[in-house]
Amino acid sequence: MSQSVCILGATGSIGESTLKVLQQHPDKYSVFAVTAYSRLEKLVEICKQFHPQVAVVPSTKQDRLAQLFKQHQIDYTEILTDEAGLVAVAEHPQVDIVMAAIVGAAGLLPTLAAVKASKRVLLANKEALVMSGEIMMQAAEQHQALLLPVDSEHNAIFQCLPNGYCQSERTGQPKQGVSRILLTASGGPFLNTSLNDLHDVTPAQACKHPNWSMGQKISVDSATLMNKGLELIEACHLFSISEHFVTVVIHPQSIIHSMVQYVDGSTLAQMGNPDMCTPIAHALAWPQRISTPVDALDLFVHQQLNFQQPDTIKFPALRLARHAMQAGGVAPAILNAANEIAVAAFLQQKIKFTAIPEVVEHTLNDMENAQANSLETILQADQFARNIATQRVDALRLK
Ligand code: NAD
Ligand code: MG
Repeated sequence: MSQSVCILGATGSIGESTLKVLQQHPDKYSVFAVTAYSRLEKLVEICKQFHPQVAVVPSTKQDRLAQLFKQHQIDYTEILTDEAGLVAVAEHPQVDIVMAAIVGAAGLLPTLAAVKASKRVLLANKEALVMSGEIMMQAAEQHQALLLPVDSEHNAIFQCLPNGYCQSERTGQPKQGVSRILLTASGGPFLNTSLNDLHDVTPAQACKHPNWSMGQKISVDSATLMNKGLELIEACHLFSISEHFVTVVIHPQSIIHSMVQYVDGSTLAQMGNPDMCTPIAHALAWPQRISTPVDALDLFVHQQLNFQQPDTIKFPALRLARHAMQAGGVAPAILNAANEIAVAAFLQQKIKFTAIPEVVEHTLNDMENAQANSLETILQADQFARNIATQRVDALRLK
């Protein structure tokens, strides 16, 4: 029986890779719903090729999409709108698998809806888990949703952990012989840029990642290392492990996607060419394996794998994220919200690159932490942090 897939964020980089994998396996998967925030032409192309039953866009774009559908004789796809539309497709009874690939906090409610509807949820949208943390993990347990990591590092860790690891008791301590997680990071485009030169880097330079082709927001996050900070928090929740047992390792070639160390001295690594089709296919088919267009790794080409410590003076984001995780409560949600505001401001050339962690640190210092015991508390902290971060952006604004 073919499985029905809902792709939240179908027009993005992860959405595109997901469709690439699905296209290779029409016997196994069909596309039930796709969602987009912009780029309607791209959405139309996707609808023509994959014939989804539903497309979700912002209500401001509904008329334009209906017009495009008419032009292209698409009469098989219904249009839903806004957050209610996203939630409706994420929890739709006909959907088996939800790819959570919206960028940022906008993905939280639909992702959580998919979890509560007991779907197989493929998690790319790390911000959703960073914000909601244990609320999302508990919902997954309670509703027996299979929450599978698509982020390449977490997918690698999942592959290197013992079977059933994520189902066992959540203590924050490593178990079943695991001693430590090694979370790898490419170091981004500015790994070898001096702190002095870092002030004046442009959005175009920041978005030019050496190994991966990704959306703008995550590209900037990779350049500040905030992406690794968010991933550290993501790993703590997914694998129920205290941040103390997660070491960030800079590995510029992005061939090893992360590692797990065991008490007997073993270190297991997952390797592959840097292409998101691999973790997407893994999460789609797990515990089975399906083919992808990704070439097998040629170790005679990649003869050198290097490792180094991260420089947290040059890249304070990593330190801020670790502190936020240690502090717990709504601190990770504050960190994430302030970062989203700061990254958007940098992309609009309102602030310098090095002001991004500054905005985040200011917002964290300015707000009181609170227990993250409900979604409402988290959303409130998110909104409050956005206001403070926006004020800070205005204060630091380039003339
Ligand atoms: P992207 O910017 O290329 O795509 C984002 C998608 O979300 C698009 O379809 C866009 O229309 C939609 N979207 C944006 N804002 C929205 C809003 N307010 N409401 C509803 N939809 C909205 O981003 P991406 O690179 O595909 O990343 C998506 C997520 O996956 C991010 O959380 C990112 O951190 C994570 N991720 C991406 C990669 C990668 O290689 N691209 C790797 C690991 C994790
Ligand atoms: Mg990653």
